[in-house]
Amino acid sequence: MRIAVLADIHANLEALEAVLERISGLHVTGIVCLGDIVGYNANPNECVDLIKSNDITCVAGNHDVVASGIEDPVRFNQLARIAIGWTREHLTDVNRQFLEKLPRQQQIHDFMTFHGYIHDTDRYLFNADDARNNFQLLAGLAGHPWLGFFGHTHVKTVFADENGIKEAGPALEVSLSPATRYLINPGSVGQPRDLDPRASFLIYDADESRITFHRVEYDIQSCQEKILRAGLPTRLAERLVTAGLRGSL
Ligand code: ZN
Repeated sequence: MRIAVLADIHANLEALEAVLERISGLHVTGIVCLGDIVGYNANPNECVDLIKSNDITCVAGNHDVVASGIEDPVRFNQLARIAIGWTREHLTDVNRQFLEKLPRQQQIHDFMTFHGYIHDTDRYLFNADDARNNFQLLAGLAGHPWLGFFGHTHVKTVFADENGIKEAGPALEVSLSPATRYLINPGSVGQPRDLDPRASFLIYDADESRITFHRVEYDIQSCQEKILRAGLPTRLAERLVTAGLRGSL
């Protein structure tokens, strides 16, 4: 089993197309998405359509939940709120209903997928304390999944629960040990925040017990032009290249 894991696409069609093209050469058996298909960028319908046409198994992110109208953007900053208002106006009914029906978390084979915390879509899993909380939640789940994939921070991260919580460095490959549990963030497809503007995703190879991170260049300029043409805030176009830091959520 080889699974491609994507997160935080955020209506960036150019990034999603580039990632799917790379994945098409990687012999995967499935693709999962950890939420936030929409929000921030200017192609929400096209991205939802690609999720559907590629049979990508998806959980809801906080932007998907607000875009579908289940919740209001009470916890959003001003930039996110403007963008989600625009997204609500432009989503088709069919795509709004698709987002509305997404589950908050899912167990697939031996792993869990979720957006923020396992039981809280909006909460950021940033540090060792957050990881400890989520390892406890993971241990309490039926079937005892040993691997949790999360998104929301837009930062590639690996936490291992191995005589205490350890955070792995910036390696492109991680060999998984069967006696250890892991929480792993593939980074963001559509709005990376780790000073590398290329789209980010990972491959989980269950047979080889290995995670491999990938970065893919895409046509950032075309995405930026669409943001500006749509009348979305200029800052949303700029941050695709400045690639942000953890402080600029
Ligand atoms: Zn996001």
